Order: sequence, then C-alpha cells, then structure tokens
Amino acid sequence: MKTIVHNFLNLFFPDLCVVCNNRLTEGEQHICTDCLLLLPKTNFHLQADNRLEQFFAGRIPFRHVAAYAYFVKGGSIQSIIHELKYKRNPRIAYFIGELCGENMKGSQFIADIDLLVPVPLHPKREKDRGYNQSLEICKGISSVTGVSIDNRTLIRKVNNRSQTKNARFDRWKNVEDIFDLTNNEAFAGKHVLLVDDVITTGSTLESCAKEILKCEGTEISIYSVGTAG
Ligand SMILES: [Zn+2]
Repeated sequence: MKTIVHNFLNLFFPDLCVVCNNRLTEGEQHICTDCLLLLPKTNFHLQADNRLEQFFAGRIPFRHVAAYAYFVKGGSIQSIIHELKYKRNPRIAYFIGELCGENMKGSQFIADIDLLVPVPLHPKREKDRGYNQSLEICKGISSVTGVSIDNRTLIRKVNNRSQTKNARFDRWKNVEDIFDLTNNEAFAGKHVLLVDDVITTGSTLESCAKEILKCEGTEISIYSVGTAG
C-alpha cells in the first residue's frame, strides 16, 4: 500500500537526485546511480600519511584521519552537504553515512575503532535544525559497520555563531573551550572516531579532539564525509 501511494505521489512530485536533479528510478534513493559512480572518493582510509593526516599533523595526536570524498565547489559533495545541512533532510545524512560505512567496511581503519562520536551541535542549533547531521551520518556508518555511537558524552556548551568570515587564527580562538565532557570515564582507554560532515579548517575537530583526549588512555581518529581538495 505504501508503495502504491508513493508511486502515485511520485507521478506529481517525483523523487529527484540531489546532485543532478534527474528523476530517480525505482530502487534509487537520494542520489542516482550515475552520480553515485562519479562521487570523487578519496580512499584516504586506506592511505597512511594521506593529505588529511598531513593537515592535522602537529596539531593534535591522532591515529588516522580520512574523508569519504572530495568537496569541490559546485561539485556533488557540496550538493549533498547542503541538502543534509540546510534542507531539513536527515535521511540523506543517514544514507551518506551508509555509503561511508560501505566504503570503510572491512578496512583496518574502521576495525580499530571502539566508538563513533559525532561533532555535537549546541542544543539550540540542533532544535532549530531538528537533528544533528553528524549524528545521522554516524547512525548510517553504525548500521553498516556495527560500531556503537556515543553522542551523550561530548557536548557543545557554547553556541558560536557562523564563523565563515573570520580568519583561521580567530576561528581557532573561537572554538577553544566550546566543548565539554559530561563524563570523564566514558572514553577512557577507547579509540574514538570523531565524525563530522565536512573538514574545512579543522579547528572544530581539533577542539573536540583536545577535549576527548583529556580522558585517560584515549586515542582519536577523525572522519568526515567531505574534505576540501
Ligand atoms: Zn544524479
């Protein structure tokens, strides 16, 4: 019945690919097969000393850093990130999380991870958006890889405004001390994979990592859906 209603509605309001806007065919979800095949994957999870690891080297101690695909201006990952962040579309965040999970499945990168931790939004921001996109991405990754999620221990205590106009140095000052832990034991001795939607300056992830690393014997890896070239 659900399918009949869906098919009927689809006649008038067809499901479109979020990347190319072409009509999706049966069995396709959110992104058409052509666009899926063309996603610019990095495969950084298979490459030691990849560009992202070089980018974070010396800033924080980490085990590994990887991203699913390259974020290019006007490219497919930009469309997907825009959709999951600003279009109230948590389902695509979950879907892209599943793709990330499929990509990492079976690799040492994910096999070594004890917990997935999404970069938290301030509760007010999360309420406005209706969800935390990084948590939805984690749920998708978890559904494929079976790795558990902890989204209660790391919290954001300051609701910093959009920082896009600030220089990198100012941004760094801005994100310092905006995160906190509700429990100092939860991450002790664990290898945590911090998950975000996109890595730009890395300052938010750096700040989260520093907070998590206050727990004894904790190790950090970092993962995002998109990364600048
Ligand atoms: Zn498409």
